Amino acid sequence: MARKPIIAGNWKMNNNIAATRQLVSELIPVVADAVCDVVICTPYTSLAAAVEACKGTNIHVGAENVHWAEKGAFTGEISADMLVELGVEYVIIGHSERRTYFGETDLTVNKRMKAALAKGLKVILCVGETLEEREAGITAEVVRRQTKIAFAGIDNEELDNVVIAYEPVWAIGTGKTATSQDANDTIAIIRACMAELYCPRCAEERVRIQYGGSMNAKNASELMAMPQIDGGLIGGASLKAEDFGKVIHF
Ligand code: PEP
Repeated sequence: MARKPIIAGNWKMNNNIAATRQLVSELIPVVADAVCDVVICTPYTSLAAAVEACKGTNIHVGAENVHWAEKGAFTGEISADMLVELGVEYVIIGHSERRTYFGETDLTVNKRMKAALAKGLKVILCVGETLEEREAGITAEVVRRQTKIAFAGIDNEELDNVVIAYEPVWAIGTGKTATSQDANDTIAIIRACMAELYCPRCAEERVRIQYGGSMNAKNASELMAMPQIDGGLIGGASLKAEDFGKVIHF
């Protein structure tokens, strides 16, 4: 069974409500005939507008983070129930910008994953090595550790609701892309890790793994031609309908 490709945009801290409505209206015709799943992940303040604007289209809406608690004294945080109430379907967890700037750890990633899945959200889990880790030759060790801890306590039945995004930190927002072969090789390591954690067939048939890191209209087709790469998590190139459309039609 072939894995259906999935391309997701990560808008980061860009686009207010008006800009969200505008970009979605431009995206709808551009991605209408996509053969892959299409997701846009927007800032919290734009989620309601994005959900409304994407109704009846093939564009799915995601958030960029979620807290693990159901409610309580967590100033500035948003719960999974709050996202579900808005009609949000996906959530990015463990993005390297959260890990680097906001103290996200493998353990908090795991807690967020469990909470999101328990409430029926689909998760885009980000893993990836820093430049120092790559130069130290420990990329495989790092992505295996991140993957194992993220999935601790998560049942096999949930695998269809998780997408993994392999994002080498040094390639995010830098214009430096991993070679398609390197990206493919590291994704194969992550898939092998999922086979150990669950089963070889689960990893082969049910686990979709994206590449992310300066993926754009120019390099998408080469990356997407690699057998292990099932999609992309797109930052900068998701902010313009024309660019995102070209990635979607890799
Ligand atoms: C990202 O934010 O996940 C990302 C991959 O960004 P960019 O495409 O801009 O490198």
